[in-house]
Amino acid sequence: MGITFKTSMEDTTAVIFDDNIAPKGYAYLIVNQNCGTMAAVLYRDFKKGNECLKRMIRFFRDNMGVDIKNEKKFGGFGNFFLRDTQIHEDKLYIGEAAGFQDGLWGFGMKYAILSGSLAAKSMINGSDYNMLWKRDLKPMIETSFVNRYLFEKVGHAGYRYLAKKFTAGSPCDFLRRHYNPSPLKQLLRPIVSRKYKF
Ligand SMILES: Cc1cc2nc3c(=O)[nH]c(=O)nc-3n(C[C@H](O)[C@H](O)[C@H](O)COP(=O)(O)OP(=O)(O)OC[C@H]3O[C@@H](n4cnc5c(N)ncnc54)[C@H](O)[C@@H]3O)c2cc1C
Repeated sequence: MGITFKTSMEDTTAVIFDDNIAPKGYAYLIVNQNCGTMAAVLYRDFKKGNECLKRMIRFFRDNMGVDIKNEKKFGGFGNFFLRDTQIHEDKLYIGEAAGFQDGLWGFGMKYAILSGSLAAKSMINGSDYNMLWKRDLKPMIETSFVNRYLFEKVGHAGYRYLAKKFTAGSPCDFLRRHYNPSPLKQLLRPIVSRKYKF
């Protein structure tokens, strides 16, 4: 759940990890050239969406002093899953329709582009699309489900640890390490696949 709005605030980005605002998810604020977006991304308690939205707006107003004009509310949802095949009735499924999204935080633009490119490759040279996505995308998507499993296990103490890690240097190195498969995460895969049914 979120809003877009006009603001006089300087360009900024901020993220919140707090189960009272975005249960097991996150909320964010992005301001770019006087256009703002803020959203609370919930992974459970969906019926509390409006309540979470109000808490998030209050949090950003009180803590970051954001002024909000001409607000417009929006909502959306994400699909993530892993199927054995992404070919149905001779159609190759890509992107979110194929469930290709990061299980941890629901990012899917890169997967949409990558899977589109793999499907095109398969059509052009006749290679097996299922083999291609399983080789290039599946290990990272499986790792993202393990990350989600771990994220759901930690509470606010874990969120504080993450926030420190993100601000301690380049968050990209930290994220890259955790988004890639590792032997430890591979060990957790059977438990995680039972929970998320893949
Ligand atoms: C609020 C929100 C914020 C997000 N933020 C990020 C982010 O910061 N980074 C990130 O990586 N991901 C983000 N995502 C996820 C990302 O948007 C999706 O993973 C990505 O857009 C999926 O791309 P896609 O091409 O598979 O599907 P879509 O982007 O959904 O595109 C599918 C298109 O097909 C059209 N369509 C559907 N049915 C038909 C039909 N029958 N005929 C013709 N056209 C049809 C739809 O109208 C749509 O335009 C966010 C999602 C939401 C909801």
